[in-house]
Amino acid sequence: MAIKSAKEYIESLRELKTRVYMFGEKIENWVDHPMIRPSINCVAMTYALAQDPQYAELMTVKSSLTGRTVNRFTHLHQSTEDLINKVKMQRLLGQKTASCFQRCVGMDAFNAVYSSTYEIDEKHGTHYHENFKKFLTYVQDNDLTVDGAMTDPKGDRSKSPSQQVDPDMYVHVVERREDGIVVCGAKCHQTGSINSHWHIFMPTIAMGEADRDWAVSFACPTDAEGMYMIYGRQSCDTRKLEESADIDVGNAKFGGQEALVVLDHVFIPNEYIFLNGEYEFAGMIVERFAGYHRQSYGGCKVGVGDVVIGAAALAAEYNGVEKASAVKDKLIEMTHLNETLYCCGIACSSQGFRTKAGNYQIDLLLANVCKQNVTRFPYEIVRLAEDIAGGLMVTMPSQKDFSSDTVVGRNGETIGEICNKFFAAREGVSTEDRQRIMRFLENMCLGAAAVGYRTESMHGAGSPQAQRIMIARQGNIQGKKQLAKEIAGIQ
Ligand code: SF4
Ligand code: FE
Repeated sequence: MAIKSAKEYIESLRELKTRVYMFGEKIENWVDHPMIRPSINCVAMTYALAQDPQYAELMTVKSSLTGRTVNRFTHLHQSTEDLINKVKMQRLLGQKTASCFQRCVGMDAFNAVYSSTYEIDEKHGTHYHENFKKFLTYVQDNDLTVDGAMTDPKGDRSKSPSQQVDPDMYVHVVERREDGIVVCGAKCHQTGSINSHWHIFMPTIAMGEADRDWAVSFACPTDAEGMYMIYGRQSCDTRKLEESADIDVGNAKFGGQEALVVLDHVFIPNEYIFLNGEYEFAGMIVERFAGYHRQSYGGCKVGVGDVVIGAAALAAEYNGVEKASAVKDKLIEMTHLNETLYCCGIACSSQGFRTKAGNYQIDLLLANVCKQNVTRFPYEIVRLAEDIAGGLMVTMPSQKDFSSDTVVGRNGETIGEICNKFFAAREGVSTEDRQRIMRFLENMCLGAAAVGYRTESMHGAGSPQAQRIMIARQGNIQGKKQLAKEIAGIQ
């Protein structure tokens, strides 16, 4: 099967028996649930753009495994050009959805697990790489969305997986059988879990010999027996449940999605296992996956940033201040910050290198610098957007007030008329358009979408300290000291 359409993707989700819980209850029709559907629409966009002739060149690519045309989200990067195109594709998706479109975690898992399994087999004589190639061929041929699951709950951070009071704090093997393994545990704040067809589970930290049972990586279908998800809530999320929810939601079409994913004695057949006890490779998978995902943020967050900057510029225009030099300068600053992030995404891609397995890995130092900047710049961009927009983005009455027929005025004016009178924008701009842009900015800066643009910028793909550790490791201070010594004439 070639590339799926957006509609086929959405319909394919209905065939799964995925177990989803929200507000303490099981959600039967989660595909059409108003709080979940926007995140499904986002992933659907990765399918829609692949079928759009305007974007097909960026969105599709020839598979290195089969030679067939596949969605780039399922591709193994074959060159630095592929790595650059990945970032460009993510920027495009960010521009089209203003949200986290979730499918990248799987793409980053494919590339990390592909190169790591090759090296595990090389040392241990295992067959993980063949297992993985077979699995990925199936994914590409069926154009599946696969989630890459890494972050365990971790319990007491001062203790390793094997030292935890509760062994489930990290995903682990509880039984080894002839035909496979049984696993228990969970992954936290897992992006794009519910709307993926399959999951790839990976370790979340480097491990020692005692952690052998926790050093495990495998693929499993999202509706596997024993697996379920508890949906993560977002700021202002229940606005999506309101009658005729639209303007007040800020972005009614798209959104991100995170969940707690639980594995309660899930059986994994041998053919889907990619790591099983070779603890010394846990760190390699983590480092490679994190490297790719830190590169990713130099694309996706930039695309979302483009929309935030555009919205701030519109807010200024509607308020009649777009010509003020202070406003212009703030927009320049926002653009400068946003493009700096893009520079980092492109730079770590262009300096990528070929792994032993043949796919391309990004430059680790530059990818970590990229993500470190992402932990800061979107916050400044949002601060400037709020500055330009003004307080109205958080003080405006509801959509219902603007359309209310209830009489409040001395001369019979309705609530709707009063709201439209006092919140009128400059001449030629409708009050509704002003409402829309203010609510959009509210959503991006501190509503549901702020999960994807702010806190995810901080903690997604690893918290700031994780990048600082990598920067310290890759920064080559010794080499820099030597440079100084030579110039300064120190023996
Ligand atoms: Fe993709 Fe960005 Fe979401 Fe990660 S945060 S899944 S890179 S859109
Ligand atoms: Fe993320």
